[in-house]
Amino acid sequence: MSDCIFCKILAGELPSWKVYEDDYALAILDINPASKGHTLVISKRHYPHMNDFPEQEYLAFMASLRKVVKGMKKYTEALNILENDGKDAGQLVPHVHFHVIPRRPGDGLQIDLWRAQHDPDLDKVQKTIQSLLNE
Ligand code: AMP
Ligand code: ZN
Repeated sequence: MSDCIFCKILAGELPSWKVYEDDYALAILDINPASKGHTLVISKRHYPHMNDFPEQEYLAFMASLRKVVKGMKKYTEALNILENDGKDAGQLVPHVHFHVIPRRPGDGLQIDLWRAQHDPDLDKVQKTIQSLLNE
């Protein structure tokens, strides 16, 4: 995609702080890190969302992500590993990428920001999601 910032980085048209690359993923430092070492694992092919991947390519990308995670575990013991999928989920760049965010004792970083709520509808929600997942 010509107007995609990550495609431009992949094409070498924009600079980046590359830390890892293989056939399916490019890992770079986030330009505005949430913590020191915040790394983005970017799909080599332009897919806006996780469910756009063909199955085999998805599995290969997951293997690349795991490889980065394994390495990053030597950098810090604790990591948040997350993907924002969709605008309402905070996805700013519609080209699949995982955030690997190093965590340190007492860093005060607030990633797990949701407020847990009581849901009286768990039975109903279970039925709805269960049937969607088993279609
Ligand atoms: P998301 O909100 O999940 O789409 O995250 C997009 C991330 O890309 C943000 O954390 C940005 O700081 C990061 N980002 C945007 N432009 C660049 C860039 N040129 N190089 C590295 N990271 C970037
Ligand atoms: Zn792209």
